Amino acid sequence: MNIPLLDLSDQYEALANDLEAALARVVQSQRFIGGPEVAAFESETAAMLGSPNAIACASGTDALLLALWALGIGEGDEVITTPFTFFATAGAIARLGATPVFVDIIPDSFQIDPEAVEAAITTRTRAIIPVHLFGVACDLDALSRLTETRGIAIIEDAAQSMGSTLHGRQTGSIGDLGCFSFFPSKNLGAWGDGGLVTARDSAVADTVRSLRSHGAFPTKYFHDRVGTNSRLDALQAAILRVKLPHLLDWGAARRQRVARYQELIQERGLENHVRFQSVTEGCVPAFHQCVVRVPQRDALGQFLTEAGIGNAVYYPRPLHLQECFAHLGYRVGQLPVAEQACDEVLALPIFPELRDDQQQAVIDRIAAFFDAQAPTS
Ligand SMILES: *Cc1c(COP(=O)(O)O)cnc(C)c1O
Repeated sequence: MNIPLLDLSDQYEALANDLEAALARVVQSQRFIGGPEVAAFESETAAMLGSPNAIACASGTDALLLALWALGIGEGDEVITTPFTFFATAGAIARLGATPVFVDIIPDSFQIDPEAVEAAITTRTRAIIPVHLFGVACDLDALSRLTETRGIAIIEDAAQSMGSTLHGRQTGSIGDLGCFSFFPSKNLGAWGDGGLVTARDSAVADTVRSLRSHGAFPTKYFHDRVGTNSRLDALQAAILRVKLPHLLDWGAARRQRVARYQELIQERGLENHVRFQSVTEGCVPAFHQCVVRVPQRDALGQFLTEAGIGNAVYYPRPLHLQECFAHLGYRVGQLPVAEQACDEVLALPIFPELRDDQQQAVIDRIAAFFDAQAPTS
C-alpha cells in the first residue's frame, strides 16, 4: 500500500464542479488582478477569523515581510522568534535589515518558550514572531503578558495553523498582526502561491494595503511611501473562496486522524517510543502536520519510505545554525532543545481524507520497525 504524506486528489474530486465554476467566473470576467473575487475573499476570511482587517497578498513569506514592514521594523531592531520553523519566518526579519533573535523551544510542544523569550528581550526588541507550529497554537497568553507593557508587537506566524483556535479564538487573529500562507499543501491551499495578513489596528492594516501596492493607497499613482507588488490574483481568490467554507471541517478531520494515530500507537504499547506533539492548553488544533518524536528517526524514516509510506523531516536544521546566519554567532549546543528536535522529528501522513485502513498500515509498519529493534534494545 502506497500512502503519501499528503494527497489532495480526494479534496479536488469532491470540489471539482465548484472549483471549475469559480474559475470560469473569473475567466469570463477577464479580471485577473484585484476586483470582486479578492475583495470577497478578504471579507469572508476576516469574518471567519474574527479579525477586523484581512489583506491578501502574494505568499505567506510576503505576509510576514509586509507585517514587519508596516510596523517600520528594520535596521537596528531585534525580532525574537523560534529557530524551529520554516525558514521564511526568520528570512523576513533579515530581509528588512533587522536582527532575528533565536530562543529555544519547549520540548513537548516544539513551541517557542516564553521564559526564553523574556530573557532575550532588550531595548531593541520591536516584535516577537511566534509560530503556531504544525497547526498547534503556541502560548500566546504568556507571550502577551511579556509584550503588553513593553510596546513590543506580536506577529503571529499562522501559516500552518489556519482553523486552529486558542481559547475559542482563531489563531492569526489574536496578536497585533497575523500571517497566513495559501501554499497548496497548507490547511487552506491555493493552486499556486498566496498569503494574507490580518491586523487588529486599522491604520496598520492600511499601511499593509499601501505597501502591497507600491505605497499607493487608497489612490493609484500617488505614492506616500515605497512599497512592493504583492497581490493575490483573482483565480487564486476564487479557488480559496470555494475551499474556505470547508476549512473548519477539514481541521476537525485532521484532529480526528491524529487522535486515531495516538490510539493505535497506544494499542501497540509504543507510546514510549513514539511521542506526539503536545497541545497547548486552550488550543483546539487543526493539525497541519502530524509530527512525532522518535530517537531512531533516520532509521524509521528510511524503513517507512521503503514500505511506500510517506514521511518527512520538518525541520532538519534549526535556523540559528543556518549558514546564512553564521554572522549572528550562534554555536552548536546553544539552543539544545531545538537542535535535538531537528534530530528526532518525523512527520507522518496526514490529510482530512486519510482512511482508517491507511492509518492502520502506517502504524503496522512503525510497530514492525520497533519489533525488529527489540532484541538490541
Ligand atoms: C509555509 C510557511 C511560510 C511561508 O509561506 P509561503 O506561502 O510558502 O511563502 C512561513 N512560515 C511558516 C511557518 C510556514 O510554514
